[in-house]
Amino acid sequence: MTQIDTALLIGARFEPGTEAPEPILNPRTGALILNVPEASTAQVDAAVVAARRAFDGWSRTTPGERAAALLRIADRIEAEATAFAALEALNCGKPINAATNDEIPAIVDCFRFFAGAVRTQHGQAAGEYLAGHTSMIRRDAIGVVASIAPWNYPLMMMAWKLAPAIGGGNAVVFKPSEQTPLTALKLARILAEELPEGVVNVITGRGQTVGNYLINHPGVDMISLTGDVATGRKMLDAAARTVKRTHLELGGKAPVVVFDDADIAEVVEGLRAFGYYNAGQDCTAACRIYAGKKVYDRLVADLTAAVGSIQLGNDDDATNEIGPLISLRQRDRVASFVNRARELSHVEVTTGGAAMDQGFYYRPTVIAGARQEDEIVRREVFGPVVSITPFSDVDQAVSWANDSDYGLASSVWTRDVGRAMSTAARLRYGCTWVNTHFMLVNEMPHGGLKQSGYGKDMSSYALEDYTVVRHVMIKHG
Ligand code: NAD
Repeated sequence: MTQIDTALLIGARFEPGTEAPEPILNPRTGALILNVPEASTAQVDAAVVAARRAFDGWSRTTPGERAAALLRIADRIEAEATAFAALEALNCGKPINAATNDEIPAIVDCFRFFAGAVRTQHGQAAGEYLAGHTSMIRRDAIGVVASIAPWNYPLMMMAWKLAPAIGGGNAVVFKPSEQTPLTALKLARILAEELPEGVVNVITGRGQTVGNYLINHPGVDMISLTGDVATGRKMLDAAARTVKRTHLELGGKAPVVVFDDADIAEVVEGLRAFGYYNAGQDCTAACRIYAGKKVYDRLVADLTAAVGSIQLGNDDDATNEIGPLISLRQRDRVASFVNRARELSHVEVTTGGAAMDQGFYYRPTVIAGARQEDEIVRREVFGPVVSITPFSDVDQAVSWANDSDYGLASSVWTRDVGRAMSTAARLRYGCTWVNTHFMLVNEMPHGGLKQSGYGKDMSSYALEDYTVVRHVMIKHG
């Protein structure tokens, strides 16, 4: 691998952070990759000033000019796809095939989608709603966006946040997770070449220091976070002080309702893939299964066998299906959830349930017999752990599925299209899939209800979130 970038991007300048070094670890082994120093408050100030300065000109470029920049960024990422995938795989422990074949193409497509979307925005028709006056609607940029990303899909979250924000004419100060800054710092090199100075600035550091300083900065107009619910609350506190806009995507605990008439082989295949992808470190992971009483036993048996065959930790990375957890802390957190569940007499851990003695790996786990009130059903584990709970009728399934603080994603599995439609209509989730789970497309929105937050990523709805509707009225003569 070539030189790894560690410098912050502030305006047109690349410079190292001047504060404490953050060790970046390889999750497959626990070994140090390198240290990335944190930004100082003066460097955050400089990044916000650079963004403010850039905003004036950038917000007045045409949609066509901004689209051209987004397309160039997409092309540049695509041209360096191998290097980006390798760096993401190194920093996160992702299997190289997942990074290369799933993530990078979706990231490239995200920039291309917003290049098109920004040129085709919709609004109310202009007209004389008051006699002698023409009213028109404008959709304009908001200002400087403080954009803060998590560690599970570092470059994809950066794409989801940057593309609609800069497409909409905003300037951004972007902070990746302190654990996974490497692809963001590499992309910064491209952004500096393809965008005017200061339109995107990239700073590194921990949440409680750099992140906290950034979100409270008076020069910031909007805070965009993908992260934990607790972090989202801190964003709202900070936003309240100067009435900043917020865009929050905060975790999930996706229910999966499997009716007795579902194709169980397909359900098992789906859960094996969508419950464990990215080692379950995914806010839409199919982790909370409710199974009809007639199919429950078969589902537990077949899923247990299927999950036992998931490949991880092999020397030949091309054979790995999932990777380790991001950190020792996350692995121990996952283990403690499983250990607490295991202590319940009605629960059975049918496969997995243990850490591996290499890196931060945890074995893919199935927890059978879980009850609605159990912690394992209620709290986000963010690891390769799926629980199964039997239900007796559709009302019980829907009420248990909805009985959650989260509201991001859900799925319904049945051969009966009427049952699929009526159940989907009753679920209080930002997304419901039928006979699948986890599938995302850049044309469709991703975002939650309840404590999962309310920001929409991807789709023209994200462009709406990162722009503001304004009214201009012209008096005739
Ligand atoms: P986290 O909330 O700990 O961190 C997210 C980001 O916020 C990091 O960059 C972190 O440095 C920063 N941060 C933390 N405290 C801060 C503070 N006080 N001020 C400013 N910034 C602060 O989350 P994580 O552990 O990195 O990511 C996992 C979480 O993200 C999970 O809960 C997961 O469900 C959620 N997530 C949600 C979505 C979604 O689309 N809804 C997508 C991915 C991840």
